Amino acid sequence: MEVKTFGVIGAGQMGNGITQVAAMSGLDVIMNDIKAEFVERGLATITKILSRSVDKGKMTGEEKDAVLGRIKTSVSLQDLATADFVVEAATENETIKNQIFKDLDEICQPGVILSSNTSSIPIGRIAAQTKRPAKVIGMHFMNPVPVMRLVEVIPGIATSEETFKITWDLAEKFGKTPAKSNDYPGFIANRILMPMINEAVFSLYHGVGTREDIDTVMKLGMNHPMGPLALADLIGLDTCLAIMETLYDGFKDSKYRPCPLLRKYVEVGWLGRKTGRGFYEYT
Ligand code: NAD
Repeated sequence: MEVKTFGVIGAGQMGNGITQVAAMSGLDVIMNDIKAEFVERGLATITKILSRSVDKGKMTGEEKDAVLGRIKTSVSLQDLATADFVVEAATENETIKNQIFKDLDEICQPGVILSSNTSSIPIGRIAAQTKRPAKVIGMHFMNPVPVMRLVEVIPGIATSEETFKITWDLAEKFGKTPAKSNDYPGFIANRILMPMINEAVFSLYHGVGTREDIDTVMKLGMNHPMGPLALADLIGLDTCLAIMETLYDGFKDSKYRPCPLLRKYVEVGWLGRKTGRGFYEYT
């Protein structure tokens, strides 16, 4: 099956990045969110990044216009009726995702693959919301999408080989390197990354070090390109908390309990870069 029209649900930091790489690979893209202001913000981000590439001589103005010309914005899920493949990148909340998959299952043609960019929610549980579990899969991009080379591809227990191959090939078409992870909470990436970030938050909470010292230790001592607290701010503290909750619920192991400080920041709306305040302040 040839994928020509690619649907993206959610125009946030992941959704607009996925839209950009799909449109740059030559696909027509429908980028959907719940409000016009959210899709407009997503499109403005893509336009800004592409303009910067033009300024740096990495692409021509015509190429930029062609990429933008392939992107349609949408605030109605019904628009996804013409999509050949959909990736859902809405907020990391299982209730929201379940409803989206139920609706997409009704709206999209029966052969269409419905994938999720979820960071941690089991694919089998999302697939069970639909009448097409063989066509539901995890397609987990990394942040920032245009820069990061990895896509984790996560088949659920009922996902077909054909669905897996189409998704894997699509990741390669986007210029990414896919890696397969089986369907357990957090998959590979966040099962390893997120407990480390959570431990960095505990280190701050227990006063082991300042935010700067914790990040400096991991950057200079472990050669990480970013410190864990700065990375948490980039990911979004709400997303980090949601992933820790999924790990904790999924394994019932206390080693995955989210740090109370992480929860406190999320409760007051300090979500990281996207709200201007997280472990650091952003202007
Ligand atoms: P975000 O908060 O930047 O964006 C989420 C978007 O989803 C928002 O614009 C919101 O309005 C929209 N949305 C909510 N409900 C919707 C609905 N019913 N229909 C359509 N749109 C809806 O979050 P994000 O960081 O882009 O994360 C999105 C997904 O990607 C999550 O599942 C997250 O776990 C995953 N993810 C995030 C990262 C990261 O580093 N942030 C990395 C990999 C995967």
